Amino acid sequence: MIRFDRVNKSFGDLNVLNGLSFDIAPAERVTLIGPSGSGKTTILRLLMTLEHITPVKHPEENGGVMWVEGEPFSHMDKGGKLVVANERHLRQARQKIGMVFQQFNLFPNMTVMRNVTEAQVHTLKRSKDEAAAKAKELLDLVGLSDKVDNYPSQLSGGQQQRVAIARALAMDPDILLLDEVTSALDPELVADVLGVLRDVASSTNITMLIVTHEMGFARDVSDRIMMFDKGVIVEEGAPEAMFGDPREERTQDFLRAVR
Ligand code: ATP
Repeated sequence: MIRFDRVNKSFGDLNVLNGLSFDIAPAERVTLIGPSGSGKTTILRLLMTLEHITPVKHPEENGGVMWVEGEPFSHMDKGGKLVVANERHLRQARQKIGMVFQQFNLFPNMTVMRNVTEAQVHTLKRSKDEAAAKAKELLDLVGLSDKVDNYPSQLSGGQQQRVAIARALAMDPDILLLDEVTSALDPELVADVLGVLRDVASSTNITMLIVTHEMGFARDVSDRIMMFDKGVIVEEGAPEAMFGDPREERTQDFLRAVR
């Protein structure tokens, strides 16, 4: 369960999220769409605690709460001061959240196998054998069992992204955040990566929060589409309604531009 309750986020004078509220249920797949700069990546970065929310200007509003897995990540106290959850809770919650980035972010000096086992051993304290068995299973799932001893620089972008997906899944996340994971790929490699993610969506109960410009993929895997503009939700609904018959002009314009 993810809950944003009147969350604000500013960078200096720029208000990126403006009292944003939404809930995401366990196992739900939600895709965030909207123009560049509308705050989609910021939402994922808040969930990864790579950013923190900005305190509300009027403490009596008592907004600005982010909940993940039943406990607040951060909240405002009565004086409007931002209170971040203790490090132990954040660490535990973070462990249950996997993120795949546009730029893969693999460790360049480690083999594919070590990229997928490293955090299992260090963070989850799995034995090397257990981690390797899990890595083999997942590298098989993403179609890369023959690349275990290669280094990232020896792989195509699509293959690197599939390693990144295997690495995220190896941590047994409850929540997977996907931030434009195909945007850096050559067009012929996009289908492979999306195919892997379709398999993940159909074979697991992982909650997925997706930012993508691939509308066909969004339509296929999502339970809900949320259209953002200027840090607020303009419109949301099931993919059939959002893509087939959007109500809001801003959604219609956006979809016309990306199709
Ligand atoms: P895109 O589709 O282009 O990735 P987005 O909807 O994901 O856009 P965000 O990346 O969330 O948008 O950015 C929202 C706004 O916040 C942008 O105007 C961006 O320039 C600004 N922004 C994001 N991160 C920072 C930062 N660390 N410092 C200053 N401004 C930032």
